[in-house]
Amino acid sequence: MKKLSERVERLGYSQTFVMSNKARAMKAEGVDVISLTLGEPDFDVPNKIKEAAKRAIDENYSHYSPVPGFLELRQAISKKLKRDNELNYEPSQICVSTGAKQSISNVLAAVLDDGDEVVLPAPYWVSYIEMIKMMGGTPVVLGTTIETDFKVTPEQVKNAITEKTKAFLFSSPCNPSGSFYTHEELQKIAEVFSQYPDVLIISDEIYEFLNYEGEHTSIAQFPQVYEQTVVINGMSKAYAMMGWRIGYSAAPQWLAPAIEKIQGQVTSGTNTVAQRAAITALEMLPSELQPMIDSFEQRRELAYNLVSEIPHFQCNKPKGAFYLFPDVSYYFGKTLDGKIIRNSDDFAIFLLEEAKVATVGGVSFGAPNCIRFSYATSEAQIKEAMRRIKTVLEKY
Ligand code: PMP
Ligand code: GLU
Repeated sequence: MKKLSERVERLGYSQTFVMSNKARAMKAEGVDVISLTLGEPDFDVPNKIKEAAKRAIDENYSHYSPVPGFLELRQAISKKLKRDNELNYEPSQICVSTGAKQSISNVLAAVLDDGDEVVLPAPYWVSYIEMIKMMGGTPVVLGTTIETDFKVTPEQVKNAITEKTKAFLFSSPCNPSGSFYTHEELQKIAEVFSQYPDVLIISDEIYEFLNYEGEHTSIAQFPQVYEQTVVINGMSKAYAMMGWRIGYSAAPQWLAPAIEKIQGQVTSGTNTVAQRAAITALEMLPSELQPMIDSFEQRRELAYNLVSEIPHFQCNKPKGAFYLFPDVSYYFGKTLDGKIIRNSDDFAIFLLEEAKVATVGGVSFGAPNCIRFSYATSEAQIKEAMRRIKTVLEKY
């Protein structure tokens, strides 16, 4: 008898962590690797938030919290959603989880039966497709191109909906492409879904504040789809609280109790100290985050200009998040330094070995022609990484 389940055998590893672990292991061996793998700000958590966490320890926030999180935190999230997104959610509609990753998996577990379809635009964040499979769902991937800035059209979405469609899952701003959907684009997509009220829209807005060119719109703002939308957000990106593991879902009343039921059997309420600190974080005005956002915008300029100088890379200027996603397919089918490059994963390994720069291949993002660079690192690292890659590739 097989020891491992079919489910786990179907599951892929998270490539973001696979590549960052490879970089870490090489560094531990003394190799001077620059890692542009993980999307994690290199900034420290703001002092106010750290102080709140220390206070929470001293005040003995050491017991279990309610499964969906402390009421005060859910009230703070409710206020934030009103303040920043013009969205009305009662605390009872909100569930705080161990990262937005868990929020998404809670939602998928709550709605998917075996064989149900989830429509998702590619490129998608690596974990979406694996989570869908893990919950027994069937991913239906919508291809996009660099020419349309990797965005789907309302017609594409409409044509993908079948009787089996349970959900539509997307991020705006998008990891990995950095594109974001404008108010008008989301309105048109919302109009399509309003004709299919049984299809749930899972709107991942974790990069909401990392939007350099426009106003963030949440698709839940369109009243015709509010009852069929769940908003996902969290503290990892905007507050640099990655390791504190706080994410949340804001769901319609029919869905929120199911999310809580699942979480109550899997992890319970998330870390209490981090929850208390998140209250303080959410009370900060978005303007207090501006210096960090400005610095990401400067890095975007720098990284984009340098990537544009690398031979045969084709790259759109990302509008949000902190990734560049160049098309590197020119190099496919070529033999570089004795290594055959079949796809972007091979290319990422080639860059790691030859240029000592770690990136993530696009295969696991559903975009096999591209690779992902995270520019959530210092300007010096960005410059040196791009210099190394350019030097290695100029030979070809
Ligand atoms: N959604 C997207 C699009 C992401 O890039 C990430 C990775 N940080 C997450 C969700 C999960 O974030 P976390 O679990 O750290 O809150
Ligand atoms: N979301 C980040 C990324 O895409 C962190 C790693 C992960 O959670 O996959 O790099």
